[in-house]
Amino acid sequence: MGAVFGENKKSFEVGMIWWNFYCYDCKWKGVANDLDKDDSANEWYVCPKCSSDNIEDMGWHKEEDENTGN
Ligand SMILES: [Zn+2]
Repeated sequence: MGAVFGENKKSFEVGMIWWNFYCYDCKWKGVANDLDKDDSANEWYVCPKCSSDNIEDMGWHKEEDENTGN
């Protein structure tokens, strides 16, 4: 009938959020596609939530949605 993979096999794709940009001002997390562009700045991107440019590419992180209860 095939191998059994055991309990380590969690729900892998459901409720999993990947992000790499972090805003130090409002703690927003997201991806580059979500960033807003500040027209007054020179090719610079800002936080879509608070328009701060105090954002940083932190590398890819994986955050599970807390809404995992049944
Ligand atoms: Zn922000």
